Amino acid sequence: MNSILQHDLKNFEVILEKAKQQGIDFLNNLENIPTSSKNKVDTNRVLNEVGLGSEEALIEFNERLVPLLVSSPGPRYWGFVTGGSTPASIVGDWLSSIYDQNTQAVAAQGGNSALIEFETIHLLLQLLELPDTFMGGFVTGATMSNFTCLGVARQWFGKQLGKDFAKNGISETINILTAMPHSSSLKTLSMLGIGSQNYTVVKTSEGNREAIDIDDLETKIKELNGKPFILISSAGTVNTADFDDFKEISALKSKYNFWWHIDAAFGGFAAVSEKYKHYVEGWQGADSIAVDCHKWLNVPYESAFYLVKKEHINLQIETFQNSNAPYLGNPLENFNYLNVLPENSRRLRALPVWFSLVAYGKEGFCDIIEKSALLALHFGNELIEDSRFELLAPIRLNNVCFTLKGDENQDKVAQFLMRLNDTGKVFMTPTVYQNKKGIRASFVNWRTAEEDIKIVIEEMKNIISDLDL
Ligand SMILES: *Cc1c(COP(=O)(O)O)cnc(C)c1O
Repeated sequence: MNSILQHDLKNFEVILEKAKQQGIDFLNNLENIPTSSKNKVDTNRVLNEVGLGSEEALIEFNERLVPLLVSSPGPRYWGFVTGGSTPASIVGDWLSSIYDQNTQAVAAQGGNSALIEFETIHLLLQLLELPDTFMGGFVTGATMSNFTCLGVARQWFGKQLGKDFAKNGISETINILTAMPHSSSLKTLSMLGIGSQNYTVVKTSEGNREAIDIDDLETKIKELNGKPFILISSAGTVNTADFDDFKEISALKSKYNFWWHIDAAFGGFAAVSEKYKHYVEGWQGADSIAVDCHKWLNVPYESAFYLVKKEHINLQIETFQNSNAPYLGNPLENFNYLNVLPENSRRLRALPVWFSLVAYGKEGFCDIIEKSALLALHFGNELIEDSRFELLAPIRLNNVCFTLKGDENQDKVAQFLMRLNDTGKVFMTPTVYQNKKGIRASFVNWRTAEEDIKIVIEEMKNIISDLDL
């Protein structure tokens, strides 16, 4: 063994202790660490001939690289839809690295960590009140989850026309209907060889809505003259957290032949709360659902899961099986994750979620969801009270979409946001809503409190006064 490695091995405990202490210092100081950074680093670092050892590497990391990092797990990082990491999720994440399993098969040679993944999916189904007619597994994010689900949908579509797209490639136009797809679904259509522009846009409902217009959907379905199609629907659009009407879509499902996919990246967690579960009523009728865990479940990146109805397991295996050999036996008995997902080798990605669910239970997550929604309302009220801001859409759940009031101020929105983000006290993302430039604040982090809203509103008022609106 190389002497440096040997030294590291001997000092392992000391090294891990240092890393742990650094982690605790970072997390305890999250509120004071800026939410944005303009620091840069010269990335032309030369690879050492002789290594430095972990302790020296840690020192260099602190000096050169840590200044690039921001308080993204902190309470005022409201950009994108970003959760933080709860203590239990960090325990699970650390232990995934320590145990370093390659999570694939059940009841095969070489370990049974896939059972932990099965159990975690079972817990998630209970959290979301979904039936165990779904099977699921972990992927890196909702993008890969959409990819997995829509990959199976693609195979289903081919089968309706007597074709095997997985084996022979796509030989027919695949009909996709959707109203307000997330950009990652379009990326998925590109990756699947369907084409990111090859979908039919269904209208959104009247009024300030991003949900699918059911009448227009049915019109578009009728225009297909009985041909099969794939419907990509939304449980939580990013701008305004709007939901398609899943009861109506369920009713259509009994009349027409289609694959129903739901992108529920963050909105799926509405199911956890008595107050908000009506948004997802009827979603159990879907063929596939994509859900992120690194958003509202507050586990570290990269964590998401897919759900596909068990009845489609053969289509899923046809799409993702890792060999050309026909799959032998009962697919549910000889289950191996590498035959149902894009990745072959996989870390024990379920563990942070398992720890979180066991540690905090249904009540813990209901609390996070309801508190986030309450904070969104609170922030929205503060904006309404200041005549220089205006909400672009009603606040349905946890996302607040707003802008500077007055069309004449549209060209100042970007400048305002840049100055706000430059304070390092808060981070929000720009958006466009109904042709208006706006800003989105998303409440998902378990640490966010009312005090944070006070801090942010104060910064916002200072900047807008300074901009002289
Ligand atoms: C965030 C998000 C995605 C993409 O998820 P990643 O985790 O970034 O891959 C997809 N759909 C919706 C609705 C999202 O909010």
